[in-house]
Amino acid sequence: MNIVLLGPPGIGKGTVATKLSKKLGIPHIATGDMLRENVAQKTKLGLDAKSYMDKGLLVPDRVVVKMVKERLQKNDCKNGFILDGFPRTINQAEEIGKEIKIDKVVNIQASDEIIIDRLSKRKVCRKCGFIYHLVYIKPKKDNICDKCNGELYQREDDKPKAIKERLKVYRKETEPLIDYYKDKGILA
Ligand code: AMP
Repeated sequence: MNIVLLGPPGIGKGTVATKLSKKLGIPHIATGDMLRENVAQKTKLGLDAKSYMDKGLLVPDRVVVKMVKERLQKNDCKNGFILDGFPRTINQAEEIGKEIKIDKVVNIQASDEIIIDRLSKRKVCRKCGFIYHLVYIKPKKDNICDKCNGELYQREDDKPKAIKERLKVYRKETEPLIDYYKDKGILA
């Protein structure tokens, strides 16, 4: 089954996708994680993407669409996949729709207040990527991952100015996808 998880930043798409991926035995493909890996490895793609990401803006469609199309061609996607953070614009949805059939789009929602609370108190393990919340999913030791002893950090785009921008971008560019997929009869 080819699944898209839709919803604003910080809503928990990554957490849900990790669980679903284990349950269904299909890969979790998070474009944000792929881009951050490229930034960490200082690839050309990463260097181009970083300035957009740090400001909370979207990386240009052509860059992200190419990256996702290449990823979906890999063998592990032949029985399905879970897309997390993609598509984020109508144009991305149209582009991917030309080549791949999406079976189900799950829309996850919450108020801005909850989202801001989640993002501003989120910390991520630099080593294994596990996501903490400083109140609800607290690490046992400050700034150390319970699972792998890796260092926890706050994403540059989880700082207040970038959070505001990301929510603005979400409302303008990504929210129209709810009706787009509703019209196709595959929204849950
Ligand atoms: P995320 O981890 O999904 O919150 O993504 C972090 C950042 O990566 C976003 O704020 C964007 O700058 C970039 N990004 C991730 N996915 C996409 C996408 N589908 N289109 C454009 N930019 C993206």
